[in-house]
Amino acid sequence: MEQQEIKVGFVQTKSVMTKSNTPLGGYSVNTYVGCPHACRYCYASFMKRFTGHTEDWGTFMDVKEWPAITNPGKYAGQKIVVGTVTDGYNPLEAQYGKTRLLLEQLKDSGADILICTKSDLVLRDLDLLREMNRKNRLTVSWSVNTLDEEFKNDMDAAVSIERRLAAMKEVYDAGIRTVCFISPVFPGLTDIEAIFEKARNQCDLIWLENLNLRGGFKAGIMAYIAEKHPDLLPLYEEIYNRRNRSYFEELEKKAEQMAKANQCRFVDNETPYERVPQGHPTIVDYFYHEEVRGTGNSGVRNRKTAE
Ligand code: SF4
Repeated sequence: MEQQEIKVGFVQTKSVMTKSNTPLGGYSVNTYVGCPHACRYCYASFMKRFTGHTEDWGTFMDVKEWPAITNPGKYAGQKIVVGTVTDGYNPLEAQYGKTRLLLEQLKDSGADILICTKSDLVLRDLDLLREMNRKNRLTVSWSVNTLDEEFKNDMDAAVSIERRLAAMKEVYDAGIRTVCFISPVFPGLTDIEAIFEKARNQCDLIWLENLNLRGGFKAGIMAYIAEKHPDLLPLYEEIYNRRNRSYFEELEKKAEQMAKANQCRFVDNETPYERVPQGHPTIVDYFYHEEVRGTGNSGVRNRKTAE
C-alpha cells in the first residue's frame, strides 16, 4: 500500500492521558488523531466519528498539543498504553516528535508503559527508552501478522515486516522487554508457527489475536479475500457470516501445542510481566479478548458457548 498524502491539522487537548475502558484499566495515550498507516482492518477508524473527520482513514492526521505533564509520579504503578488508536511512531512523528515529547514527560513516572507500533522509528528514541527502562516497566510491541511482504503491502502502509523484526531485535538486545503481536490473525493466511520461529529469540511475549470483522471494514476485507484468495472465501464466510468458531478454536489448540513443544508458557488473556529465557517467549492467547471483560483481569476468559 502506498503511503497517501496526509492532511495535517493541529488540535489542543486538555490532557493527553485518557482513562482506558479496557479490562486492563490504566490509561490509553494517543499523541495523534488518525493514523497514516491506514490498515485496512483498522478498528480505530471509528475515531473519525468522534473527531469530525470525513476523509478516508489514513489520509488525515491531527497533531495533539497538550499541557505538559507536571506530576508524572501520579502514574506510578499504573498501566499506560501508548498507541491504541494511532501509531505514535507513524512517519510524521519524525517531524513533530510528539511521542518522544510524551515519553520525556513520563520518563520518571514509574509507570508500566507499553508502546504499540508497526514502525522502526522507535529506534530513534532508543537512548530515551534505555533511560526509561531503568525507572519504569517498559515494553515495546510490534504487530506482525505475516512474513509475506506482499500481503502486508495489501493491508497497510507501515514499514516492512523485515524492518519491524529488525527493530524488535535491536530493542530486545538493548535489554527492553518486547512483544511480537501476531494480530490480526487472518484465517488461512497468518502462519503463527513461521512468525514464532522468526521472533522467538527477540521477544518476551507473543500475543495472538484473531481478526475481528465486526467493524465497517468487513465488506472491504471480504472483497479482498474474494479477489486475492477466492479459495479462502468459504472459510471466511463460515467464520464471519455464520460465526463458526471452530477455525480459531483449532488454532488455539495448535498454539498451545506449539508452546508446549518449545517449552514456552501458554496463558489465556493475561500479560505476565517478566523477562523470559531467550527463545521461550510466553504465548498469550488473546483470541476473542473482548470476553475477558468482567473477569477482573484474572486471566480467565468468560468463554461463550457456541452461538
Ligand atoms: S497502525 Fe494501528 S491505529 Fe494505525 S491504521 Fe494500523 S491498526 Fe489502525
